[in-house]
Amino acid sequence: MVDWDGPLTEAFERATTYLAGLPERPVGPRATAAELRKALGGELPTGPSEPRDVIAHLAKGVEDGLLPSGSGRFFGFVFGGATPASLAADWLTTTWDQNAGLYAASPAAAVVEEITADWLVELFGLPRGTSVGFVTGAQMANFTGLAAARHEVLRRAGWDVERDGLIGAPPIRVLAGAERHDTIDRALRFLGLGTNSIVPIAVDDQGRMRADALHQALQDDGPQIVCAQAGNVNTGAFDLVKTICDLAHDKGAWVHVDGAFGLWAAVSPTLRGLVDGIDRADSWATDAHKTLNVPYDSGLVLCAHHEPLRAAMSIRAAYLIQDETGERDSLDYNPEFSRRARGIPVYAGIRALGRSGIAEIVDRCHAMARRFAETLAANGVAVLNDVVLNQVLVRFTNDELTRRVVRAVQDEGTCWMSGTTWQGKAAMRISVSNWTTDESDIDRSAAAVLQCLNQLQRA
Ligand SMILES: *Cc1c(COP(=O)(O)O)cnc(C)c1O
Repeated sequence: MVDWDGPLTEAFERATTYLAGLPERPVGPRATAAELRKALGGELPTGPSEPRDVIAHLAKGVEDGLLPSGSGRFFGFVFGGATPASLAADWLTTTWDQNAGLYAASPAAAVVEEITADWLVELFGLPRGTSVGFVTGAQMANFTGLAAARHEVLRRAGWDVERDGLIGAPPIRVLAGAERHDTIDRALRFLGLGTNSIVPIAVDDQGRMRADALHQALQDDGPQIVCAQAGNVNTGAFDLVKTICDLAHDKGAWVHVDGAFGLWAAVSPTLRGLVDGIDRADSWATDAHKTLNVPYDSGLVLCAHHEPLRAAMSIRAAYLIQDETGERDSLDYNPEFSRRARGIPVYAGIRALGRSGIAEIVDRCHAMARRFAETLAANGVAVLNDVVLNQVLVRFTNDELTRRVVRAVQDEGTCWMSGTTWQGKAAMRISVSNWTTDESDIDRSAAAVLQCLNQLQRA
């Protein structure tokens, strides 16, 4: 008899202890790389070990090197934590170990993802029949959406890119805001379009693409893709997607929206105006592992037109059993072949929260971000952006002091955030993306930031 209980019980106990400790744990890694190597390294094991001991040793070894991003006082990057239902479903997804590439390989995974896809389309208010692929993150969602775009704009120009590649193809112009996320550039590299295909469009002081500049840059014909953004990674600002779609479609361009965290504003009745007209775009990239607080790795690509997505992604092989009855073979939607059934934790996350619960996360992250910004502003700290969603950029007098405050806050441990550069100036970037963050987290964190600032100013 295989002993599953031993290692799984060890994992369960370690997991619940970790989760229970999050609210009071210092928010930052405590171990150096050298200490981690010492705790975890050593010679290649020459033979087997007891699985339960392996799990205990692993958990102990990594403990001090974990960045507790599930904490309510973690404001780094744009991360998000994990809700109980999505985390538990993620464990089961691993247990069931389904290969979600084909209907035949897991009818359950295919149907769960089909249902989840419909729910997502309804949540975001996108056109019925929009196709959804469950990818690893917004990086791959941008890649996949842009692959569909590449197919379609070249097909309209009489070119079959899947068959003939890009050598000799009509050039594609990719019009994207100067403050686009770097994963757009990386996706274009992966797609063989290269970063030189980008026509950078001027942005305003919040990082929003300027519609007049886009209007000027669009050409009357030829393959064009416009990359809009719903939620700038620094300011949280939203491009005016409605206007952008009208201008772009008028010239036959495809509109792809990077809404890694911002697309979720669509779920909030009070913030929905930020994404006005978003349903007019052709493809969207977003994350479930940010605002929805599903464990990594969980991104979503949505495409209003199924055929270009299928043409860009699908694969036929003699040994594959592809479904003839119209059931969902996810490799028609995804760049992966074999893959984890990552729609299952998304399903559980949505089911547990419901529409109102998701809207509540979006609204609370917004309210908490505003509270953070207002508290710091009331103490003389410069807030550099309009806090329209969950992102706050603050600056302390100059670049040098700003960087030192970021480092001091990270070392102090009450909360954790990272630095950035916004329009040439160093800034501290606060992202409220965790479903547990409440008023006391904000108040404690703001107090810690102000205390670090005071100490540095006195020194
Ligand atoms: C986080 C983010 C991405 C990249 O998403 P991953 O999930 O890390 O792949 C892309 N665009 C924006 C605007 C983001 O915030």
